[in-house]
Amino acid sequence: MMKTWFAIPLWQRVIGALVLGIIVGRLWGPEAESIKIIGDVFVAFIKMLVVPLIFFSLVAGVAAIGDIRKLGAVGGRAMLLFIVSGQIAVWLGLFLGTVLAPGLGVDTTALNVGDTPPPSETTWRDMIMGMIPQSPVQVMADVNVLPLIIFSLLIGIGILMAKEEGAPVLKIFESGSVVMQKVTMVVMELTPFGVFALMAWVAGTLGFDALAALGKLVALNYLGCLLIIAIIYGGMIKFLAKLPVIDFFRGIIDAIAVSYSTASSNATLPVTLRCARRNLGVSNSVASFVISLGATINMNGTAMYLGLATLFGAQIFGVDLTWGDYFLISILGTLGAVGAAGIPGAGLIMMALVFGAVGVPLETIAFVAGVDRIMDMMRTTTNVSGDAAVATTVAAMTGELDRAEMISADDV
Ligand code: ASP
Repeated sequence: MMKTWFAIPLWQRVIGALVLGIIVGRLWGPEAESIKIIGDVFVAFIKMLVVPLIFFSLVAGVAAIGDIRKLGAVGGRAMLLFIVSGQIAVWLGLFLGTVLAPGLGVDTTALNVGDTPPPSETTWRDMIMGMIPQSPVQVMADVNVLPLIIFSLLIGIGILMAKEEGAPVLKIFESGSVVMQKVTMVVMELTPFGVFALMAWVAGTLGFDALAALGKLVALNYLGCLLIIAIIYGGMIKFLAKLPVIDFFRGIIDAIAVSYSTASSNATLPVTLRCARRNLGVSNSVASFVISLGATINMNGTAMYLGLATLFGAQIFGVDLTWGDYFLISILGTLGAVGAAGIPGAGLIMMALVFGAVGVPLETIAFVAGVDRIMDMMRTTTNVSGDAAVATTVAAMTGELDRAEMISADDV
C-alpha cells in the first residue's frame, strides 16, 4: 500500500488529491469544513520552513559566486538583468491582476476567515528602519523576512571576502541548504493531504464562483508566465545576446520539461547547466555562476505571481490598495522572489511577506494552496528559462559564448 503510494510521483498524487478534493467537497457540502484543519496543519508546516530556507539558501547562493572580484563584470550584468526582469515581471502581475481582476465577485462570507486586519500605518522611515536586521536572532524569531534577506546577503558577501578562512562557514551553509531542501521534501509529502482537505473545503463551502475565480487566477498565472518567456526572454536573446530565439528555446527543452514536472528550480539545476553548456555554448564559469545564483534569486515567474496573487487576495477580501501599496508590492514581490528557494511551493510561502505588508488576509494563502501546484509548475518553468536566458545573454555580452555550439542546437 505504502509502496504503491510512494511509487506514484508526488505531482500526480497532488493533482489526484485536487480532483478528489473537489469531488468530495461538492458531494459533502459545507460540512467539508470539518477537515480544513488538515489543510491548516499543512500550511503551518510550510510556514515553519520560511526562516531556515531563506537563510541557508540565500547565503549559499551569494557565496556561489566564488570570488569577490567576479562580482564585477559578470555579476553586475547578471544582477542588472535579474532585477530589471523581476521588476517588469511583478508589474506585469499587477497589471494583469488589475485589468482582468480574477478575484472580483467572489463571495467569501462562507469562508469564515474573521476580520480583515486594518492596513498597516507604517511610514517610509519605519520601513527603512524595519529593513535593517538590528538583531538577527529577533528577526528570525519574528519571521521578519526583509531584514533576514539583507542579513543573509551580508553573510554571503562576508564569506566571499573571507576567502579560505570563510570556507568552513560556507560549508555549513551549503550543507544546511541541502538539509533544508530535504526537510522541505518531507513537508511536501503532506501536500496531497493538505490539498485534498483545502480543495474539499473550498469546493464544499464556496459556490462555483470561487472555483471559477481560482480558474481565472490559474489562467492568468499561465498567461503572465508565457508573456515573460516570450517577450522578456525572447527579447533578451534576440536584442541583447543577438541570437536566434528558436534555437535558444530548442536548446533548453530538457530544462523546460524537468522544471515543469518537478516544480523545482533547484532540482532542475543540473539539467539547466547541461543545456547552457552543451546546447547553448555558454562557458563553464559563466554557466555555473549565473545559473546557480539564478536558481536561488532569479524567479520572474514567482515575482509575477506574487503581484497577481496579492491583487487576487485584495479583491476577494475587499481590501483597497493605494499606489503606495502597489510600489510596496513591487519591491516586496521582487525581494520575495529573490528570497524564495528553488523548491516546490516556495512562492506560496513568500505570499505571507507581501500580504502582511499591505493588509491582505493571510487566509488567501489557504484559499489558493489547493491550485498552487498547477501554477507552480509554470512559474518554475519561467524561472528556469530565465536563468538560462540571463546566462546566455551575459555570456554573449562578455565573450564567453561559443556561437558555433549554439547553432548546433539543431541536433539536440
Ligand atoms: N517552485 C518555484 C521554483 O522552484 C518557486 C515558486 O514556488 O515560485 O522555481
